[in-house]
Amino acid sequence: MATMKAWVLNGIGDLRLMRVPKPAPGRGEVLLKVTACGVCGSDIPRIYEKGTYKFPTIPGHEFSGRVEAVGEGEDERLIGTMAAVFPLLPCRACPSCEVGAYATCSAYDYKGSRSDGAFAEYVCVPAWNLIPAPEGLSGEELAMAEPAAVAIHALRRGGLDIGDRVLISGAGPIGLMLAQWARAWGASQVLLADVDDSKLAFARENGFADVVNAANEDVQTWTMERTEGTGVDLAVEGAGHPASWENCLRAARPGGRVVLMGNPSGPMGLTQNGYWEMLRKQLTVVGTWNSDYAELPKNEWKLAVRAMAQGKLQIPPLITHKVALEELGEALGMMRDRTAFYNKVMWTIGKGEG
Ligand SMILES: [Zn+2]
Ligand SMILES: [Zn+2]
Repeated sequence: MATMKAWVLNGIGDLRLMRVPKPAPGRGEVLLKVTACGVCGSDIPRIYEKGTYKFPTIPGHEFSGRVEAVGEGEDERLIGTMAAVFPLLPCRACPSCEVGAYATCSAYDYKGSRSDGAFAEYVCVPAWNLIPAPEGLSGEELAMAEPAAVAIHALRRGGLDIGDRVLISGAGPIGLMLAQWARAWGASQVLLADVDDSKLAFARENGFADVVNAANEDVQTWTMERTEGTGVDLAVEGAGHPASWENCLRAARPGGRVVLMGNPSGPMGLTQNGYWEMLRKQLTVVGTWNSDYAELPKNEWKLAVRAMAQGKLQIPPLITHKVALEELGEALGMMRDRTAFYNKVMWTIGKGEG
């Protein structure tokens, strides 16, 4: 039987590089040779604290690959195609699925958390989940389609308008993606806040000069100084921290919009003053989750891949660590222990034997 190398999560914190059977594509599926797979911020608690839906599971949901084989009923012309992959497998039966709102499906499957993902040489996915890539995009760039689509969705939820002044609270991988998108889509000003100086320095290196350390400075005062005292039209909370949420509310202009995107690691309480910001300024506060994959009105994954191909997003500088599959365990440990600065970490066949 053909085998492959894969990082298998056998229990919480028990991730091992193993030889496992190479998967075979079922009906409607394709077999992908993985070209790159990023580590999502959510993978660290998934592997070390919370675990996956069941064990054993191969994690990894931000991936790209080349079609190597197709299952029964699939078009053989797909073989050789490079693609990004939408990792969510909708049930296609619930009310959300009926209207194409797959991110809110009540019974979805997910590559890399509920079923096997791409911390492996190969993975099988339905052909429906492939976003074929135009020539010239690398597997590494395509593996960033997920965070790019998540960022698009957040800005669309926030109704980004031409000329908007935007504050992004949280300068991690998605924060920088948000910043790039906001600029590409006509924001007149993009401000970034974080509590980590190394992240702010990295944002500056990537062309975003207006950055503030929220631990040392009052974000509202800082924002007002940069917006003639009015505040931003749109603030995106990307840290999942109550102080960050409150900063977004305080920095928004009257009638402004605040998008809640950051996954919280604890309670998200507001002070009375923070709550008043919503009331007195009549703010619109919206949540965002994942991304849209339905064709109408817009498939945000196709939008992401197209924007990469058009050079509207600068993806390669966001990838700070590229490792071979065999080195992924060490890279995950580095992220867990924060022993080095990182923005996006990924395994890629460009490193090592593949
Ligand atoms: Zn992710
Ligand atoms: Zn569903």
